[in-house]
Amino acid sequence: MSKKIYVFIGVQGSGKGTQAKIIAEKIGLCHISTGDLFRNCEGKLKEKLDSYMNAGKLIPNELVLEILKTRIAKSDCDKGIILDGFPRNLEQAKALEKLLKVAKVIEIKLSDSESLKRLSGRRICEKCKEGYNIYTAPKPKSDGICDKCGGKLVQRTDDNEEAIKKRIKDYHNKTEPLLKYYKEIVSSVNGEQSIETLSEELLKIL
Ligand code: AMP
Repeated sequence: MSKKIYVFIGVQGSGKGTQAKIIAEKIGLCHISTGDLFRNCEGKLKEKLDSYMNAGKLIPNELVLEILKTRIAKSDCDKGIILDGFPRNLEQAKALEKLLKVAKVIEIKLSDSESLKRLSGRRICEKCKEGYNIYTAPKPKSDGICDKCGGKLVQRTDDNEEAIKKRIKDYHNKTEPLLKYYKEIVSSVNGEQSIETLSEELLKIL
């Protein structure tokens, strides 16, 4: 099966989610954000996931893999997948290797100071989950209101300063080493460009 599997890696706020969504739509692949997958879970499982997410902690690998395996088995993944937020450590990368062959890894580079600024400006629509940023882009047309559905814009519960710092630290300690692991198939891009310019660059690479 010639399923195209791409992995987007970048510190929080690098725009990997925004870009993964744009590129997946343009080239007809399925965009899977593990963070979104977990936020959309319900009931007892959601309570368990929230206890990690709200503290900025990584969810245990077995649980991540169990949820991810169910998601990638769905038919909308048949043509290929852009993975956003997974793998986040070496153990997850090795587990992924047993499931799918990664064709390309994209590293979106961003400084820690810019990451902090972007995450504290991040807003999400309470209703339709559309993402915005009050400091960078996309900015909402009216303050606090979603352009798409008129819903209220709120901060993610894990976008508080303590959790943000913990996530940035985890990125450097656990996720960044994956760039070495994937060194033969990594392309690095600058995350400080405009959304449009970066999308064009990524489309050329992929
Ligand atoms: P994100 O939306 O990618 O910033 O992820 C939000 C939170 O979900 C993270 O801070 C973790 O708690 C959890 N999470 C997402 N992806 C993973 C993963 N691959 N492994 C462990 N935890 C994850």
